[in-house]
Amino acid sequence: MARLRSEVTVSLPPDLIRALHDTGAHVEVDAPLAKRVWWRVGGPADALVEVQELGQLCAVRALAHAADAPVFVLGNGSNLLVADAGIRGIVVRLEGALTHSVDEGPRAPGEPAGVLRCGAGLKNNVLLGRAAKHRWAGLDPLAGIPGTIGGAVRMNAGSAMGEIKDILIDVELVLPDGRLVRLGLDELGMRYRHCDLPPNAIVATARLRYGAVPWEESEARVRAFLDKRKATQPLDQPSCGSTFRNPPGDAAGRLIEAAGLKGARIGGAEVSTKHANFLLNTGDATAADIRALIHHVMARVEAHAGVRLVPEVEIAGDWGA
Ligand SMILES: Cc1cc2nc3c(=O)[nH]c(=O)nc-3n(C[C@H](O)[C@H](O)[C@H](O)COP(=O)(O)OP(=O)(O)OC[C@H]3O[C@@H](n4cnc5c(N)ncnc54)[C@H](O)[C@@H]3O)c2cc1C
Repeated sequence: MARLRSEVTVSLPPDLIRALHDTGAHVEVDAPLAKRVWWRVGGPADALVEVQELGQLCAVRALAHAADAPVFVLGNGSNLLVADAGIRGIVVRLEGALTHSVDEGPRAPGEPAGVLRCGAGLKNNVLLGRAAKHRWAGLDPLAGIPGTIGGAVRMNAGSAMGEIKDILIDVELVLPDGRLVRLGLDELGMRYRHCDLPPNAIVATARLRYGAVPWEESEARVRAFLDKRKATQPLDQPSCGSTFRNPPGDAAGRLIEAAGLKGARIGGAEVSTKHANFLLNTGDATAADIRALIHHVMARVEAHAGVRLVPEVEIAGDWGA
C-alpha cells in the first residue's frame, strides 16, 4: 500500500498501478478532481487513468476488473458532485483518439444526411465548433451542454433543442471485462435524462446523424437558443446546470422559487437568484455544503408543494457512512 501526499492509504495494489502504467495510459495517483469538475469541489481519485485509444481503454478496464478495483468514468464533470473525500478506486478519462470525430459520410449513396463517429471523450462544444466549420447541421441537441459525448449518452442530455437520442445511431461500449460491444439506439432505453447502459459499461464511441436540416436554419436556431440561455442562466459561476429533474408537467426551478428558496445558502453553496434550479459554488463551497443544500431544497419543496424533487446531478464518491 503506497503512502500518498494526502496521507490517505490508497486501496489499489502497487501491481495494479504498474500494470495500468504498462498499458501506456497516463496514470496519476491521488489525483485532484476539484479542478476537473464544474462545481470545483471534491477530493482526489485514488488513481486517475487517462486513456488515449480504444485498445488501451479495453485493457485498463479488464485489468481493473481482474483486480476487483472499482472504476468510475469522468467525462467533463459537468453533472457531477464529487465527495470531499474523493473517489475510491480508478477514475478513467477518455483522451487522445477517444476525442476524435470522423465523418463517415452518407449512410446510403445520395442521402443528404451523414454520419459522424465520435470518441466519447469529445466535448460537445468542440464537436459543435467542427460542425460550424464543416456545415454539419442538426447537432442542435448538444448546444449549450458543457459535457462530453459519453456523458451526453449516459444522461440522454438535452434541452428545448432536443435530446442526444434524436441524433444517436449507436454506441460502442466497453464492458467491465474489457469486451467491446455495439448497441443500437433501440437497445438503450433512452428517455428523459436516462439511458439503460449495461452496469458499469463505458461509452467509448457514438455515431451521430447530421445534416437532416439546412445548415443556416440549424445555426440560427442554436444562436437564438444560446442567447436566451445567457440571459436566463447564471453561466458565470460554478454550477452543474439544472440540479434537479423537472417533475412531470412542472419545472423544478418554478417549484424551488415558489418555495422561497432563491438566494438560500448553506456554507458557500447558494440557490441562484437568476435561475432557481442552479445551485452555485460562490467561491468557498465544499461538496458537503452543496449536498446539504440539495437536501434542504428537496425538503422545503416537498413541504411547500408536496413534490419530491429528484436530483439530475450525480452524487459520486466516498461520502462515508
Ligand atoms: C452550465 C451548465 C449547463 C447545463 N445544461 C444542460 C442541459 O441543457 N441539458 C442537460 O441535459 N444537461 C445540462 N448540463 C449538465 C451536463 O452538462 C450534462 O449532464 C452532460 O451530459 C454531462 O456530461 P459530462 O461529460 O460532463 O459527464 P460527467 O459530469 O463527467 O459525468 C456524468 C455521468 O456520466 C457518466 N459518464 C461520463 N462519461 C461517460 C462515458 N464515456 N461512459 C459512461 N458513462 C459516462 C459519469 O460516470 C457520470 O455518471 C449542464 C451543466 C452545466 C454546468
